[in-house]
Amino acid sequence: MAPRSRTKSWPLGLALVALGATACSKSPDVAKRPNILLITVDTLRADHLQPYGYQRPTSPQLAELAQGAMVFEDAQSTAPWTLPSLASLVTGLPAAAHGCRSFYSSLAPSYSTLAEQLLAGGYDTAAVVSHVFLGRPYGLHQGFVHFDDELVLELTRSDQAISSKAVSDKGLAYLDAKAAAGGDEPWFLWLHYFDPHSVYQAHPDQVGTFGTKRPMDLYDGEVAFTDRHIGRILDGLGGLGLTDDTVVVFTSDHGEEFQDHGGLDHGHTLHEELLHLPLIIRVPGEDPGRHAGMVRIIDVPATILDLATLPAAPESFGQSLRPLIEGRAGPDLPPAIAELDRNTYRDQISLTTTETKVILNRQTGKPELYDRVGDRSEQHNLAPAKQAETQALLEELAILQQAAVDVAARHTDRVDQNLGTPEIENLSGLGYVDDKE
Ligand SMILES: [Zn+2]
Repeated sequence: MAPRSRTKSWPLGLALVALGATACSKSPDVAKRPNILLITVDTLRADHLQPYGYQRPTSPQLAELAQGAMVFEDAQSTAPWTLPSLASLVTGLPAAAHGCRSFYSSLAPSYSTLAEQLLAGGYDTAAVVSHVFLGRPYGLHQGFVHFDDELVLELTRSDQAISSKAVSDKGLAYLDAKAAAGGDEPWFLWLHYFDPHSVYQAHPDQVGTFGTKRPMDLYDGEVAFTDRHIGRILDGLGGLGLTDDTVVVFTSDHGEEFQDHGGLDHGHTLHEELLHLPLIIRVPGEDPGRHAGMVRIIDVPATILDLATLPAAPESFGQSLRPLIEGRAGPDLPPAIAELDRNTYRDQISLTTTETKVILNRQTGKPELYDRVGDRSEQHNLAPAKQAETQALLEELAILQQAAVDVAARHTDRVDQNLGTPEIENLSGLGYVDDKE
């Protein structure tokens, strides 16, 4: 591996020096912060991507990105469905803290979002979204100067839509417009892709590679289709000469089950196939690498803000992963917590460390304990045999959850939405309204 080049990392390196040495903090170069490109793909389980060991060619573009980036091998979500997970991505808070726990929820204006903080730090902020939960009524648009929700508004049945090409077209148009306008203002662009979400659509040019026999075959075709369009954005960045000025962050909101625990789709359990996210961060001038230890989706906004030399949100539960990206010792992260609220699906909560995971069913009071080193796919419940260890983890979980609940109590402007019949029907088509429970 080539030695780390300090000269290439000038925007971040200089800014870091400035933070530690106030004497040179007035240098005009310090004002130059990196552009931030945040790419999220809905319903993307990490182990169906080549950088995470998948044998099928679902993701050549992401594999190429990963070769020049830090790959976090064990990133954990806060929930197995879109709204709470993406609310965590923009606030750095677990679900009980930001309060977006049912499909009637909305992120209250009093919360600080990643886009609001970047905007305050001098960034132009833009998002292209393609999922109903990123529509304005859900509140995650806070802080975006440019918020393109056309793909959400024009779709009455977004489960049947194919939108990756349009997301990339819109993203490329934004990059072209910024390049044409010139100027020194850094930008933050969030692109959310949707196609791997059910109902899986066949893409003619992927069928030959993956087949159509099983749901997983169609899903892999949707992942490959999305990967191709993500490649267009990454190529566009290179074509505009922006690769060395832009931090690229790639992640997902949750995974998908293919009968790993007897079910399909997502939103119904807190198992690994639904909570394990891909997380790939490419920082100009930094060596590529892989980090095996557990990190959390709530750490992503703090990381992005740190890379932009801006402070994390005052209430954030997340911590910056920047030291790990720079090859230094990382933060001592608390465990990840995730939950399913009783208003939506089953009532469960979990706590995950690099080595261990406990899931508590709050309806039955029954815990499950898994050894993440020897049983990463969570097939053998050790709780009956290890009751003391289970109890200790449940007590740690209760403390963390109470801290999250305390944050929510401070936000008195939280209100639920009144959804109409068309919205309910759309959510039903996406599998979000389950009257069987
Ligand atoms: Zn989702």
